[in-house]
Amino acid sequence: MEIYEGVKFTTEFLSNNSPKISPNMEELIHWSKKFHEKNLCPDTPQGSGGNMSYRLNPSKDDFVITGTQTKMKDKLRPEDFVLVKNVDLEKKTVSVSGKIEPSSESIMHYLTYNRCPDINAIFHGHSDIILKKAKELSLPHTEIELPYGSLELAQAATKLALKHKFFILKNHGFIAIGKTQDRAAYEALKFV
Ligand SMILES: [Zn+2]
Repeated sequence: MEIYEGVKFTTEFLSNNSPKISPNMEELIHWSKKFHEKNLCPDTPQGSGGNMSYRLNPSKDDFVITGTQTKMKDKLRPEDFVLVKNVDLEKKTVSVSGKIEPSSESIMHYLTYNRCPDINAIFHGHSDIILKKAKELSLPHTEIELPYGSLELAQAATKLALKHKFFILKNHGFIAIGKTQDRAAYEALKFV
């Protein structure tokens, strides 16, 4: 897998307020801890072993996502999250409200929410166990390995998200999505 070298877009800070604590955020804090314990999102020296988000409102594309290099080992706090308000795919600008930069895969999360209106949670992890099982179980996957944080990866993932609730980004990690966080979590936890 490619070495992490920061986000590949420009972050526009609309405000430095972290997203408000809410039942959805509490739920994401719970799942991030669980995913770390189960080695689905193992922390690496460069930072986190994945990124997780939920859609803020059913009819909009705004979403709350973990910040870049967030360690899942520790209980996440509101400051570890960023609200993504808009993404300009041409300019590669991500407009946010928060104290830190959003996850390097924010464009992928945005595109999936934008194209899949019934999806309200996206959990992405770098799990070697799942990558190994993927071959045995013939799980759906991107055809080739694509650079992290790229529009190409976001487009390939979104194409799979239209058909599958769980799939593999080749040589990179898994994506679990669902109508609710519980459903997305179930899609990944059933493999460990
Ligand atoms: Zn990743």
